[in-house]
Amino acid sequence: MNLPLKNNDSAELKALDLAHHLPAQADYALLEQLGGSRIITHAEGCVITDIDGKSLLDGMAGLWCVNVGYGRSELAEAAYKQMLELPYYNTFFKTATAPAVRLAAKIAEKMVLSNPDLKHVFFNSSGSEANDTVFRLVRHYWTLKGEPDRQVFISRRNAYHGSTVAGASLGGMTFMHAQGGLPIPGIEHVRQPYLFGEGFGQDPDAFADACVQDIEDRILSVGPDKVAAFIGEPVQGAGGVVIPPQSYWPKVEALCRKYGILLICDEVICGFGRLGQWFGHQHYGVKPDIIAMAKGLSSGYLPISAVGVSSHIVEVLKTGGDFVHGYTYSGHPAACAVALANIGIIEREGLIERTREVTGPYLATALTRLDGHPLVGEARSIGLLGAVEIVSEKGTNLRFKGAEGHAGPVVRDICIKNGLMVRGIRDTIVMCPPLIITEAEIDRIVDILEASLNEAEPVLRAL
Ligand code: PMP
Repeated sequence: MNLPLKNNDSAELKALDLAHHLPAQADYALLEQLGGSRIITHAEGCVITDIDGKSLLDGMAGLWCVNVGYGRSELAEAAYKQMLELPYYNTFFKTATAPAVRLAAKIAEKMVLSNPDLKHVFFNSSGSEANDTVFRLVRHYWTLKGEPDRQVFISRRNAYHGSTVAGASLGGMTFMHAQGGLPIPGIEHVRQPYLFGEGFGQDPDAFADACVQDIEDRILSVGPDKVAAFIGEPVQGAGGVVIPPQSYWPKVEALCRKYGILLICDEVICGFGRLGQWFGHQHYGVKPDIIAMAKGLSSGYLPISAVGVSSHIVEVLKTGGDFVHGYTYSGHPAACAVALANIGIIEREGLIERTREVTGPYLATALTRLDGHPLVGEARSIGLLGAVEIVSEKGTNLRFKGAEGHAGPVVRDICIKNGLMVRGIRDTIVMCPPLIITEAEIDRIVDILEASLNEAEPVLRAL
């Protein structure tokens, strides 16, 4: 299916891109200077190829989502078969479809592994929509429960929960808040458990205690009877692969229980094997009341997301008549059929066990090769999520003066030139390869990272 493309197809598409297409999260003036977006035309396994024939090892699994890798005809066939049988029907007004029901049951089977109460599923199409659902559902729940003042969400600075109004407001990225008058009221942002950036040199457990104390202080200043929920990604992804100290989550959970606050895990990146468990919270041994998931649920082959909801919450929802919330594509049958087939692949190929026991540890060891590099402040990973901190002075967490926040994109661009797709988030390079990645491909990721850091050093020192 990899049809050869004429040279002028590239020029034509780039011109059309500039003339008509507004890509996501982009600087449109910069794109104009660059002559248009990089157009990806095909992919296989862990390798993506652009319209100019350049192949890149995809160290990002698309956008943290293509867990089973590219080129899975089984997923295309699942969509094809379902589209012929029933391409669409909704789940409004007392209807459902077989794939939606089966997928809900399948997700429940994975959620109850850590929390027997977590067994209900609400479908949406994106991670942002899932978090919008969470936001409305939780506020509605507390109102029905007779505590209508419990409306405040506590989230973390530098968290990412999506791009919609509720998603970006729940998120803690100030540059996102600056566009569109966000956050909406009733959301409090507290300290993130970013040891390298904000607790450099500290004892991890003491640092976790300080972060948890910040949550408690905020609960007390807002008023414990006004706080509805705490939401967090088990490991912050878009914030820079912020891996919390191991003791952080159990302490957050204890705090939520102490004040009767709902615990919500945003599993959009960490779900479906990324940390070597079905869900990231399972790695940390906590029992959230609600989880949001997307991305790896269908490995990105079709858009779908879900919110897992505990029975004790559903029991309360049952007292309120209609939950007046839902999307045209909630439980889209083709997306559900693809997600079911995707979960089938993860199970059959043992991708979670492989991440936990083989490739995750292999990545961690491979990254230690970068420890001695003069630009590397820290190379860390968990499962198949990794990050490299770029510093100006070895042994510190100092960034390049006057160019803070720019080292990541500089190194990323060099990595791309050298055949590796990674992401540069401020001064951090992050990676999130497909779960099918081989040991040899992990070595290649680290080789290219090392060569690219070498190449970047004079450029960064000259900034
Ligand atoms: N939550 C988290 C943790 C995410 O990483 C993302 C996307 N990167 C979202 C929510 C939003 O998902 P979507 O882009 O599908 O709306």
